[in-house]
Amino acid sequence: MINKVYADNAATTSLSKEALDAMMPYLTEYYGNPSSLYSLGVKSRQAVENSREIVAKCINAEPKEIFFLSGGSEADNWAIKSAAQLCAKKGKKHIITSKFEHHAVLHTLDALKKQGFEVTYLDVHEDGIVRPEELEKAIREDTALVTIMFANNEIGTIQPVKEIGEICKKRGILFHTDAVQAVGTIPVDAKEIGCDLLSMSAHKFHGPKGVGALFIRKGLRFDNFIDGGAQESNRRAGTENVAGIVGMSVALKHSCEIMSERNSRLEKMRDRLIDGLLKIDRSRINGDRVRRLPGNVNMCFHGIEGESLLLSLDLKGISASSGSACTSGSLDPSHVLLAIGLPHEVAHGSLRLSFSDNNTEEDIDYILEVIPQIVSTLRAMSPLWEKIIKNEKNI
Ligand SMILES: *Cc1c(COP(=O)(O)O)cnc(C)c1O
Repeated sequence: MINKVYADNAATTSLSKEALDAMMPYLTEYYGNPSSLYSLGVKSRQAVENSREIVAKCINAEPKEIFFLSGGSEADNWAIKSAAQLCAKKGKKHIITSKFEHHAVLHTLDALKKQGFEVTYLDVHEDGIVRPEELEKAIREDTALVTIMFANNEIGTIQPVKEIGEICKKRGILFHTDAVQAVGTIPVDAKEIGCDLLSMSAHKFHGPKGVGALFIRKGLRFDNFIDGGAQESNRRAGTENVAGIVGMSVALKHSCEIMSERNSRLEKMRDRLIDGLLKIDRSRINGDRVRRLPGNVNMCFHGIEGESLLLSLDLKGISASSGSACTSGSLDPSHVLLAIGLPHEVAHGSLRLSFSDNNTEEDIDYILEVIPQIVSTLRAMSPLWEKIIKNEKNI
């Protein structure tokens, strides 16, 4: 039973059949370089430009505002590093972010701090949501850039990006949002948010891995990131990943078309799962229950280690995660759970289950059958749990 129930769609999703079918011709028959002038090249060029239009439409942007690249991490790096350089030219070296951003953002900011930038980390409170008032208070004369994610990848909480966008616009500050968990999952409207930069990644919405895009608001004079050929309007060199780009656009279009129906189904499944898991003694849900992604469940079960829980779930054919894919494997507690105020020992016992259109009510039934058993087996072996029971420590 390698993968009976896949419940780790925040880490990555399966490639959809529609996306694969649309990609195949560009991996076989139509292999021309989009920069070549003969018909075979033109065919590839048309596929890339057609995909750009589709992606732009899905986030209410213009095609010339979409730049294809290798994924969410590259989009975050490009957006933040180049925006910072742009502002440094005007003598501004202060950046505001939140405590629970993805590592692609936090580690990029670490690199900038070494170059003399100053970073303020906004609190995300127990509900996992940034407060726009606190952003306003943190703004200084030399604030250059605000980078705050659209939806968190671990606890799924959705941030008030529209309010944040309004504040930034009013104060003349650049606003980047890592929307990797949001695009294709919930409605994303770049114009409405009023952001300058927005990151997305295809493999989070049933597109292929290794391809994504950065939205750059038109008119923004933005440095290129990869030097070389003239691809992507001279801003991101390298022969285009034609098949990947086609797959991304087809997957995104499909995700957006089925969005509202899919999300009401996922929300029902999510809420039933949360209610069921909360019946377990000393369990808690992390992050706001309502303002979260339709397919995200993040729980703590006091007295057990997240890693042992994951291994036991894997033996039952359930693929899930504790923390994010990038941090699991290390024994550090999740920086996201610490940011919402959980103590270290609780943050270690967390479980993230994330669902997509492929999941069914039967998956939820199976998870609800398996997890309570595993939790009680693990607790029976846990010295920590014994202590908790003795001290009647609560969470
Ligand atoms: C997955 C993810 C990324 C990284 O995207 P890649 O395409 O895997 O590089 C960045 N930010 C968030 C919020 C993510 O969930």
